[in-house]
Order: sequence, then structure tokens, then C-alpha cells
Amino acid sequence: MKSRTNPTLETWGWQADAACRGMDSSVFFSPHGERGRARRRREEAARAICRACPVSAPCGLFAENSRQPYGVWGGYTEAERDERVLGVRRH
Ligand code: SF4
Repeated sequence: MKSRTNPTLETWGWQADAACRGMDSSVFFSPHGERGRARRRREEAARAICRACPVSAPCGLFAENSRQPYGVWGGYTEAERDERVLGVRRH
């Protein structure tokens, strides 16, 4: 028999094990007007955290499925998600 699941836990349960839990979200989200080298540096810092995160797969899937428009999720920036999901490359 198929077990019944709590949809809220199923959707968000992975966050309990997130490596970024309690961290300043500014590592993952771009401040207004951020560009160039500063942006690349911040995104690489976020990716480094995500690479060591035990829940990067569900995090990345959540961001893709819910079309998160901003931030690094699962090690992918918003531009990379657009490319993965929509095949659209941002400039
Ligand atoms: S993959 Fe990155 S953004 Fe997602 S929960 Fe882990 S550390 Fe946070």
C-alpha cells in the first residue's frame, strides 16, 4: 500500500539539512545592480557552499520546478536555471 505523505514536509523537508541554513542570504542573492567580477565572486562563493550541501539535488529541483527567479539554488544561478529549464541564455 502506498504511504500517505505530508505535502508540506515532502516539499520543504530537505531544508532541514541545508548547508546554508542560518547563513546570510546575501551570499545567494544578488544585490541590486551587482555585475561583473563582484557578481561572479559572490556566485562562486555560493556554489562552493552548495557543492558541500547534502541536499543540493532536491534544492535545485525545487528551484527549477517552482521557477525561482533569483538566487543560487542547488549550485545553479538564475541564468543557469533558465538555460537548463528553458534553454534560454541570459546575457
Ligand atoms: S544547495 Fe545551496 S542553496 Fe540549496 S540548500 Fe544547499 S546550500 Fe542552500
